[in-house]
Amino acid sequence: MFTPAELLEINTLLTPGRKIVIITHYNPDGDAVGSSLGLKHYLHAKGIEAEVVVPNDFPKFLKWMPDAKKNIVAEYKRKIAFDLINEAEVIFCLDFNSPSRIGILGDWLVNARAKKILIDHHQQPEQFDFVYSDTIIPATCQMIYHFIEAMNDEHLVNKDIAECLYTGIMTDTGGFRFRSTSADTHRIIANLIEKGADPSVITSNTWDTNTVSRLHLLALILGRIEVVNDGKVAVLYLTRNELKEYGFQKGDTEGFVNYGLSIVGVRMAAFFMEDLYEDFIKISFRSKDDVDVNQFSRKYFSGGGHINAAGGKSNEPLLDTIETFKKRLEGENL
Ligand code: 5GP
Ligand code: MN
Repeated sequence: MFTPAELLEINTLLTPGRKIVIITHYNPDGDAVGSSLGLKHYLHAKGIEAEVVVPNDFPKFLKWMPDAKKNIVAEYKRKIAFDLINEAEVIFCLDFNSPSRIGILGDWLVNARAKKILIDHHQQPEQFDFVYSDTIIPATCQMIYHFIEAMNDEHLVNKDIAECLYTGIMTDTGGFRFRSTSADTHRIIANLIEKGADPSVITSNTWDTNTVSRLHLLALILGRIEVVNDGKVAVLYLTRNELKEYGFQKGDTEGFVNYGLSIVGVRMAAFFMEDLYEDFIKISFRSKDDVDVNQFSRKYFSGGGHINAAGGKSNEPLLDTIETFKKRLEGENL
């Protein structure tokens, strides 16, 4: 948590009329959107207005969240997004650790005059004016709750805040399953339910959103899943043409990599996908126990993230990338 002195200083920054912007990472996920909107609703409950700016669009299954459709998507509203960041007095930076993770917002953030407040659970955060970084916590949404507690404002948590924070905790823990899910996580979840978050409605809004084409895409990749390294590593992939053929929509491949990790004996899963718009391969890594995919991705695939969930990139063609990946595994002790 921020120190008591920092909390006091933050408190003086959070006054009505201040220009406050909340930003989050490229390809926003449930935790990114949930923490941004949860914080926005909390500030609103304090009588302070803030704008959420995201670098690019986010999946339809997150747009049910209160005010999600008011998020400024910088790829569509570049000038508005730039002006907000440029003129901001305070910028909350949520669920990312480095300006390199926020697409076109990166340079704008670096040059902005605002006080920059980081709340994030990724490894190795870079320099910000105020830093609340904790890699043990499973979701930035949980950290927003701790921040509200530290500000002595728990009584302000309402249904809007609760729904947003519940969603991010649920998605970033894979439905309260991943290793960092703690008793604290569940205590906070219990509080959020008491404040109006409905688990069955939120789960259904977020996860019962399959389309037939998404299921066909899943069937395709599951049909050719490959297990290497003595059964310890699962490899999945999708080509750009396949994405087009199945009418891919943002978020359609969310969670696919976890099927690799669900195989008995598998300790690491990697999912390779040709980006639909840009000329690189996007990679998702997931792992179990002490297999550190953050380090692995930093070392070999210009990426990072968490110990058990990380992302990376490759500029080689898809199948070459997979071959390179298999070679890199040889040096690892899985
Ligand atoms: P995903 O596989 O779901 O895209 O990402 C898994 C985790 O790794 C997320 O927490 C995400 O923020 C992080 N991550 C994904 N891609 C990158 C990347 O290229 N660089 C870094 N540093 N982190 C990433
Ligand atoms: Mn997160």
